[in-house]
Amino acid sequence: MHIAGAGMAGLCAAVRAKELGVKTVVYEKGSRPGGSMLLSSCVVWRYLDADAFKRECPRGDAELQRAVIERLDEGFEWLRALGAPVVWEETGNPRTVGLRFDPQGLTDALVRAAGDEIRFGEEPPEEVAPLLLATGGFQGDSELVAQHVAPAGELLLRANRWSRGDGLRRALSAGAGLTASMDEFYGRAMPAPPAAVPEERFVELAQLYGRHALVLDEDGKEFAPDPISWSETDLVQAIARRRGATAWYLVDEEALDVEVRGRSVREMVEAARRAGGEVLLPNELGIELPGSYRYAVHVVAGITTTLGGIRIDSRARVLDDSGEAIEGLLAAGADAGGIAGGGYASGLASALVFGRSAAETVTAR
Ligand SMILES: Cc1cc2nc3c(=O)[nH]c(=O)nc-3n(C[C@H](O)[C@H](O)[C@H](O)COP(=O)(O)OP(=O)(O)OC[C@H]3O[C@@H](n4cnc5c(N)ncnc54)[C@H](O)[C@@H]3O)c2cc1C
Repeated sequence: MHIAGAGMAGLCAAVRAKELGVKTVVYEKGSRPGGSMLLSSCVVWRYLDADAFKRECPRGDAELQRAVIERLDEGFEWLRALGAPVVWEETGNPRTVGLRFDPQGLTDALVRAAGDEIRFGEEPPEEVAPLLLATGGFQGDSELVAQHVAPAGELLLRANRWSRGDGLRRALSAGAGLTASMDEFYGRAMPAPPAAVPEERFVELAQLYGRHALVLDEDGKEFAPDPISWSETDLVQAIARRRGATAWYLVDEEALDVEVRGRSVREMVEAARRAGGEVLLPNELGIELPGSYRYAVHVVAGITTTLGGIRIDSRARVLDDSGEAIEGLLAAGADAGGIAGGGYASGLASALVFGRSAAETVTAR
């Protein structure tokens, strides 16, 4: 089995294939394993049941969502058995269940168990089969992002720099179908330029308090979705579509003390300021404001993973437009789209589930 990508989906597939006695070669374009998983908060989670998943992500494929609900817990036990270190036994969100892993520890455990060769700096040759596309989505390719997501300004890439739609292009040339939600992405509001946002600070610099702020565009117009969803994915997508793909978050004294995922809004604002981001006094914006605000924080839409992509079935087989499986071609992780459409779901969870399924499909052949 040939696997493109040594991130979450590719490594899970490689380990499962090895357990099932299939020889694998993993090609990793980058210089290290782990992909975006290594940069992530590493909370792997699911909604409580398939109905809740569909309610939260109404444009997602119900069959793929059901597969995540049914197979994720087995995936958790499997990762624990591989020695992946769990740092939290819960997600801290009543809508979801899951585990938080240590990202370096999870990467190390998977690489150790995969054992077989990982060829760094390489992409799979043409015409190899069976081939699993696990290249991590197309957020790193500005042309594909312009074509499908169509932001109104430059998005900040909040992901590994190698995931540039190689899997998508390869699948399309083999006749693959595309999913719904090609214009959707999961991301976070980040401090806008001139802030310095290096990859090791992607988690720390996220500005997670849009729901507690007045959100204005560059023309001073309020525009946030009403209500803003718990994950704020809808707000980040809305920012991407305003001029410059930027916005101002205005926060008052009360909002500064609100805690979001273990951090106060004040700490997030301070982190933006320390990174060199624009944190102004509201009167410096030069517009009339309702109410009294302490700070205006300039944010840009950061793109973490695309949510649309290659069409697959629940066995990770790539499908054409008519729903027929394409012989010898599989996809998993962010390359495979159509799971979280209309909302947000754990990308690590679907990478785990469909990465493992891809290896099982190859063995069943
Ligand atoms: C800051 C941050 C926080 C996050 N937090 C969470 C979280 O808490 N929970 C969650 O569920 N998700 C989170 N995510 C998202 C999660 O990391 C991704 O959804 C997940 O890693 C997707 O898995 P993947 O295998 O598809 O891609 P990746 O893990 O990114 O792996 C893709 C790999 O493919 C390689 N590659 C690219 N092109 C090629 C090619 N042509 N040939 C060979 N190799 C190639 C890349 O170098 C990379 O190593 C976060 C991401 C980031 C960046």
